[in-house]
Amino acid sequence: MELADGSRIAAGTVVVAAGVWSAGLAAGVGVDLPLRAQREQILLVAPGAPIKNVPVLSDLVGLQYVRPERSGELLVGNSDHSRPQWVDPDAYPGTADPQYVERAVGRFAHRFPGLPGVALSSSYAGCYDVTPDYNPIISATPVDRLFVAAGFSGHGFKISVAVGELVADLVVDGDSSHPLIPAADFRLSRFAENAPLVSPHPYAGAGQMR
Ligand SMILES: Cc1cc2nc3c(=O)[nH]c(=O)nc-3n(C[C@H](O)[C@H](O)[C@H](O)COP(=O)(O)OP(=O)(O)OC[C@H]3O[C@@H](n4cnc5c(N)ncnc54)[C@H](O)[C@@H]3O)c2cc1C
Repeated sequence: MELADGSRIAAGTVVVAAGVWSAGLAAGVGVDLPLRAQREQILLVAPGAPIKNVPVLSDLVGLQYVRPERSGELLVGNSDHSRPQWVDPDAYPGTADPQYVERAVGRFAHRFPGLPGVALSSSYAGCYDVTPDYNPIISATPVDRLFVAAGFSGHGFKISVAVGELVADLVVDGDSSHPLIPAADFRLSRFAENAPLVSPHPYAGAGQMR
């Protein structure tokens, strides 16, 4: 592997785990990863009054999720993936678009009608590393001892413990040692086989997300 300064590191085993940038790295050794960058916009909302014990809430009607921040603000995220915005992960607008804010604030106000003086504090945008079935690739590749752990499609953080276990198992033993983490589900070859990984418990309206 060649670093930015031109130096090289030799390794018997390599795991590509570079988020959406994994596709470019793997392409360098002839491995095609079906990854795209989907821009996601996040709002931070000041509720206008201190509110206690707000749970993490997934609103499957408004297709939003809400989470309390330590600052007292509420983080409002998007679960509507009907019109994904594909972007260049190195060049995309880093704050929310006015039209998005208007729609998201309307949905938020509908779900939390009792808040006085609610106001938008700030916003930002980031990129999901999305696969065609919105599930990750945690897999060996056609290149011997080259593994991939990428394509978490917006839900990699909460499953990271299981991901770590599976990556370690693949590298050491070539298969999962955990009955609840079937390695075959996350194999890269499922896309070429037209056998997407589909959730047995999909959230209506949120597509394949989660
Ligand atoms: C707005 C937003 C909200 C999210 N909300 C949630 C959530 O509520 N729950 C949840 O579970 N997940 C959520 N996620 C998804 C979660 O953040 C990702 O799934 C997770 O961060 C993926 O981790 P990763 O380590 O695979 O990739 P990344 O976090 O993308 O890390 C990849 C790293 O590789 C580095 N890299 C890139 N190219 C190279 C290179 N050539 N050489 C060396 N290093 C390189 C990058 O700098 C980066 O540090 C959210 C994501 C976004 C954008």
